[in-house]
Amino acid sequence: MNLDIVGDDLKVTLSHGEVVRFAHLDYAASAPCVRAAADAVQDLLPRYGSVHRGTGVRANASTLAYELARDVVAEFVGAGEEHEIVFTRNTTDALNLLARSLPPGTTTILFDGEHHANLLPWPNQLRLPTPSSPQEAIAALHQALKTTRQAVVTITGASNVTGEVWPIRELADVAHAYGVRMIVDAAQLAPHHPVSLTELGADYLAFSGHKLYAPFGAGVLAGRADWLDAAPPHLAGGGASAVVGDRPGEITWATGPARHEGGTPNLLGAVALAAVCEALATADRDALLAHEETLLARLRDGLATVPGATEVSVFGPGHPRVGIVSIALDGRDPAEIAGVLGRDHGVGVRAGQFCAHPLVRRLTDSAQTGTCGAGTPGLLRASFGLGSTADDVDRLLAGLRAALRT
Ligand code: PMP
Repeated sequence: MNLDIVGDDLKVTLSHGEVVRFAHLDYAASAPCVRAAADAVQDLLPRYGSVHRGTGVRANASTLAYELARDVVAEFVGAGEEHEIVFTRNTTDALNLLARSLPPGTTTILFDGEHHANLLPWPNQLRLPTPSSPQEAIAALHQALKTTRQAVVTITGASNVTGEVWPIRELADVAHAYGVRMIVDAAQLAPHHPVSLTELGADYLAFSGHKLYAPFGAGVLAGRADWLDAAPPHLAGGGASAVVGDRPGEITWATGPARHEGGTPNLLGAVALAAVCEALATADRDALLAHEETLLARLRDGLATVPGATEVSVFGPGHPRVGIVSIALDGRDPAEIAGVLGRDHGVGVRAGQFCAHPLVRRLTDSAQTGTCGAGTPGLLRASFGLGSTADDVDRLLAGLRAALRT
């Protein structure tokens, strides 16, 4: 119940007039809202007020709800004493915050297949070519760490292009062996797998509420407090400042999460996100995963029989992945095919380069594919999660087959 999708029966009128249930297969961009998030917001709406400011029942209830949300998220990521939870706008915001919190002189080691949110913010980068196996990734990281003195490593938990799960634990062990911290972009991992800082071996985790069934615009940066407390505030302003003198520069900045949460926080976003974390924490994750695996197998087996459509991967077809599959289309424009799927079949997917241009370029170089727009390489991506059904997958496969025949 808590994890039921709000709007699961959304209807759409197809180009030929038939009305069907919309098959949403773009969870990786933004997942639909679950009941737990909607209920939490609904519950607070009649009572909410300012957070950390003001008195009275609304302000008190809001401050309490906000800090409880932080505690729930802390538990969701298995945070310890040394960690803190900062609410951000989204993953992009969280990673930008962290990039500006690195000790001076730090080199960020990463692979070039990252989403732009985990590719662009880092100031001094050592960008390694995307490896073709987990073993190659581990070896490349060893090599890089041997010659880089002061470093941090940042890696996606699961690729937003191929859905492939990166060997985070193993890479974190390598980083730690060199005394280096590990950052995990968990935007695509958190909706599908438990994300514990300790189990992943991560020092920092970033993820977004809107991909975790809580579409109210809050994200999370969870991780070690020391760098965050020493960094300039993410947003200078009220809340981030403890004491402000009369002259410019006479400021004592707050420590703890407040330092980076300048301005009035997104209370409803944080509460919605925490409600989903709580619902997931008590759900049968193995059963959810098994459902997803079944859909994944159905989609991938089906795709193998669609002429002109080829699934892409970095680590090869046997590597574990979350519910994301990107498809190269022989000589066809993925944007055009995505449009046909929407108009004629009521299926929502995504076409293009998914904010991971270097990776998609690499994958499309090695696959025969159509172009998206003015000669830009592109793929078609289907992604799913809670609320997805075998019918969604079948409609995508039938629609794709028909669209590629014309
Ligand atoms: N990292 C990954 C792996 C993603 O898939 C995305 C979103 N597509 C982001 C980061 C950025 O997330 P947001 O847009 O919520 O900031």
